[in-house]
Amino acid sequence: MNKAAASLRIFNSLSGSKEPFVPIEEKHVGMYVCGPTVYSNVHLGNCRTFISFDLVYRYLKYLGYTVRYVRNITDAGHLENDADEGEDRISKKARLERIEPMEVVQRYTVDFHKTLAAFNTLPPNIEPTATGHIIEQIEIIKGILKAGFAYEVNGSVYFDVKTYNETHHYGILSGRNIEDMIHNTRDLSGQSDKRSPQDFALWKKAEPQHIMRWPSPWGDGFPGWHLECTAMSTKYLGEQFDIHGGGMDLKFPHHECEIAQAKAINKKNPVNTWMHANMLTLNGKKMAKSTGNNILPQELFEGSNSILSKAFNADVARFFMLQAHYRSVLDLSNDALEAAEKGYNRLKQGIALLPELPASTSSSFDVNEYIAAYHNAMNDDFNSPILIAQLFETVKMIQRTQKGDETLTQGDIQKLRQTINLFVFDVLGLTLASSTGENTYLDKALSVLIHMREQARANKDFATSDQIRDALLAKGIQLKDGKDGTSYTLES
Ligand SMILES: [Zn+2]
Repeated sequence: MNKAAASLRIFNSLSGSKEPFVPIEEKHVGMYVCGPTVYSNVHLGNCRTFISFDLVYRYLKYLGYTVRYVRNITDAGHLENDADEGEDRISKKARLERIEPMEVVQRYTVDFHKTLAAFNTLPPNIEPTATGHIIEQIEIIKGILKAGFAYEVNGSVYFDVKTYNETHHYGILSGRNIEDMIHNTRDLSGQSDKRSPQDFALWKKAEPQHIMRWPSPWGDGFPGWHLECTAMSTKYLGEQFDIHGGGMDLKFPHHECEIAQAKAINKKNPVNTWMHANMLTLNGKKMAKSTGNNILPQELFEGSNSILSKAFNADVARFFMLQAHYRSVLDLSNDALEAAEKGYNRLKQGIALLPELPASTSSSFDVNEYIAAYHNAMNDDFNSPILIAQLFETVKMIQRTQKGDETLTQGDIQKLRQTINLFVFDVLGLTLASSTGENTYLDKALSVLIHMREQARANKDFATSDQIRDALLAKGIQLKDGKDGTSYTLES
């Protein structure tokens, strides 16, 4: 374990304060993050959430923890408006596009993985799906019914919030009060089988037209949205685990319901530390497809949008997001991205100087102080903006050393180089890779292949020319034939 691990503090949404992080099992961390509902292309806002937890995952690993990171895929049960009525989001998309629900799931799961890989996020250790855990969900419902915190009506099962709240605290995470909730909710009588509007579905009866359905002791139906996370987190991380994360918008009702379900069946607090990542706005306003104030990751990488003046690569976008603390709202705009790109290039240039620094017999400044500042930043609730600011301070000193205004010994240069590499590449997850056109060796190698392809085409050997094009495409390099010859683009 890294010595710095002892000083890590994390803001716990449950207590509303920063707490020293002590895992349940020494040297091991169990972390669950609510994944996407795969019915459309992943949003940039969601990407920010997953990049935030990627930072958490990476830093915990850096500290020496063995982390089991579980992030689910919601492929059933998530209804429109996050409510208990309405159409399943995936079924609806399948109906509109006249394809199978599982085709919708496959298409957008692939998009999700591809986009997160472009942002250089590490894959979770387990990525379970809701449809793959129907049996586990049914077992939990049976347990909650047995414990007396749920009731069955017409083939659906609902969680009884009022009864639960008599012995437990519903609202413990969101700080909501059940009396206020009852007071502020519309009366649903006649429209719902629920005894009380606060109750939430554990199992919903499938109407005849509902495609995604499974048999259960209560008839054909499908699980409620909140249930899958309780089933999968318990299965893979146990009845009590260290960290549960998600977007701020999931705090209520989703996470509140998860706590209630788990406590109802296991009589234990399921999670020690609840973490919530804040949202991403666009030009000061909430991103929404309906208003047009929206930009997809791919549109950002390609520059194919009317909001930004040019394309920004995924590494710059990641750097931009990490320049804000995960609990703060972050606003994306053209100016902010351009400023981030400048900073990113400055960092890149500074790091490139490191191997060339002249070594001296003594150091004029203490590199340990700089290294300690990186740890202090990350130990303070994963404060990446402070870490990046400290890295910029270091870049200044690197530049001064190169000019001869400061000195460093060979040992200190080595130490600084090693630590900066760890923080920039392993912890922040930046690649600092050259963007298209800057990588001269790649340029040279590709020009050889492009030339071979042109010769093949001149000889009417189209099999070879297609083979070169397709093999490159499979590796993420797309050739484009134009008036001035063939150029290439790299998959972001
Ligand atoms: Zn969840």
